Amino acid sequence: MKKKLLVVGAHSGDFVWRAAGTLAKALEEGAETLVVAMSYGERGESGELWKEDPKRSEESVKKIRHEQASRAAEIIGTPIRFLDWGDYPMLLSDERVRQLTELIGDFEPTVILTHSEKDPFNPDHPVAFQAVMRARLLASGAGVPSAFKNIEPPAWYSFEPHQPELSAFVPDTFIDISSVMDKKIAAMACMGAQNYLKDYYTELASRRANHARRISGQKHIQYAEAHQSQVPRVVASIF
Ligand SMILES: [Zn+2]
Repeated sequence: MKKKLLVVGAHSGDFVWRAAGTLAKALEEGAETLVVAMSYGERGESGELWKEDPKRSEESVKKIRHEQASRAAEIIGTPIRFLDWGDYPMLLSDERVRQLTELIGDFEPTVILTHSEKDPFNPDHPVAFQAVMRARLLASGAGVPSAFKNIEPPAWYSFEPHQPELSAFVPDTFIDISSVMDKKIAAMACMGAQNYLKDYYTELASRRANHARRISGQKHIQYAEAHQSQVPRVVASIF
């Protein structure tokens, strides 16, 4: 079966910090990928741009954020789609859920990666989680024949939030991103609006690799990203 990874972020930078390594690794393995940025994070996650020039317009911030995320996606080698739903607050409507459902139905991902259900420090990330949960179910039906077109239910993971313990994030899947960490670092460097996160997420990847080595005994892992599965995986064999 074709491997297809869909990464959905509330803001245009989210995929870079939390899933760029997993995306690059998937591409290295011949998978098809798509990133969806529900908003540009123009209000809530562009503090450095507003600090530079408090009088600039939201439209100009969106433009810069569009360019930064597009460059980061290009470095990773993944297509990216911008939905421009607005942030802080991100609002869900029936039309937006329908748009996301159609997008999932068209792309037919085998794996979806998005935010965690809880994030007490961000008003939009849990909204993105809810949107993805609904759209994934609407696109895939309930596992039985339906009257409408549906896709195989994709595997579904949450990527790591900024404050994992306080977001009830318990990682159960570690991806070895050592071979593509240079791409993640280069992609992070594109995100000028959130430069302070670059060192933080490099350190985190190194710390998660320590955990991955301890769990698996695979001593070569230098960098890792951690995710939490939202639905059980069905596998052909216990091995
Ligand atoms: Zn975000």
